[in-house]
Amino acid sequence: MRRLSILGSTGSIGKQTLEVVRNAPEDFMVEALTCNSDADTLYSQVIEFRPKVCCVVDEKKAAELSSRLKNEGIDTEVLSGREGNITAATLDSCDTLVGAIVGFAGLEPVYHAVLSGKDIALANKETLVAGGDIIMPLIREKGVKMLPIDSEHSAIWQCLKGEKRDDLDRIMITASGGPFRGMTRDKLENVTRENALQHPTWNMGGKITIDSSTMMNKGLEIIEAHHLFGISVDNIDVVIHPQSVIHSMIKMKDGSVLAQMGRPSMILPIEVALYYPERGTAIVEEFDPFDAALSNLTFERCDTDVFRLVGLAYEAGRRGGLVPTVMNAANESAVRAFLAGRIGFLDIERTVFETVEKMDAVIGNTELTIDSVEQADTDARAYADELIDGKSCS
Ligand code: NDP
Ligand code: MG
Repeated sequence: MRRLSILGSTGSIGKQTLEVVRNAPEDFMVEALTCNSDADTLYSQVIEFRPKVCCVVDEKKAAELSSRLKNEGIDTEVLSGREGNITAATLDSCDTLVGAIVGFAGLEPVYHAVLSGKDIALANKETLVAGGDIIMPLIREKGVKMLPIDSEHSAIWQCLKGEKRDDLDRIMITASGGPFRGMTRDKLENVTRENALQHPTWNMGGKITIDSSTMMNKGLEIIEAHHLFGISVDNIDVVIHPQSVIHSMIKMKDGSVLAQMGRPSMILPIEVALYYPERGTAIVEEFDPFDAALSNLTFERCDTDVFRLVGLAYEAGRRGGLVPTVMNAANESAVRAFLAGRIGFLDIERTVFETVEKMDAVIGNTELTIDSVEQADTDARAYADELIDGKSCS
């Protein structure tokens, strides 16, 4: 039985994790559930799963939730703030943290969870992009497991089972191509927030959906794969595969290519992570090769002249250090501004490029520690926000 702390339980991955738990309550114990501000959803989750603790980062909403639960006679402890998330992540009674917070905010609790010896089932890719050089060595030092949830990385991980790492030649990360696949730069200039939120194959939270439309999601995943599998970004290719049936492939040194396939659903990679090294039972509709929708699988190159953030991510991954941290922070600020209707679609890319260029000189010689990563994130956000204020249409 796994004893889970699910951070970000009110989001898309958090809810699907609880679906896996709901399907096999005898295999899991929910020790902690946390969110940023959606106390209503958290309330229902607490009523259903009765964790020891829960946390709402927003203090006012946490206080309201606390009195609501007391009135119901429910003794789940309600925490708040960043500290509350850390407490939830490091509970003695939990053995596995599910990292389903979106963005850099997920790094701090993951860091503390690894320090306190928890296995990490990780969806929150920004944690590895911004702090992979801190987290991965710590994972090895503490002898805990890193269980990838991101579907591409779950696929690569499954393909690598039983293989020697030295025999791995290349990784081919697949991507649906997002809603703007095949578009020109001119067309991209005028796409709207609503267009960008229409993902062709996956139903996900707002931030990752926008990242998929700019293709930054694939950029982040290249760096995530580099940290998870110890492979240079130059040995990772992006393959556009609009049907999202092959979740990624690996090429071994003898030329064999291994792929993992399935319908586009995050339930399966969540199960793979939480049952590792065993297997759970099938929850999602099974894969049927004779289904007409699955019978025509196609592959294209990624157009990095149009989706320039992919090229920037390769460059950031090559350079390492705090460059990916800065790139990630600028992207988070820009995506938030785009979702708020403050900047245009291509302003996301401009903001990220300009921030990375500006911060370059400052971060060059900084030693990599959890504090310097935090600082680089704060500084990059501040600079990106200034740029956004300059571009802002409201
Ligand atoms: P959502 O936006 O749906 O959910 C985010 C969760 O994080 C919510 O519970 C939210 O709380 C919480 N949260 C947001 N900000 C903070 C904060 N500052 N402190 C604490 N908690 C916070 O995101 P997704 O579930 O889509 O994505 C989560 C992560 O998983 C991302 O890193 C994403 O890239 C990754 N991922 C997601 C996939 C998907 O299919 N959705 C696929 C692969 C990876 P509240 O509800 O209160 O705002
Ligand atoms: Mg993914």
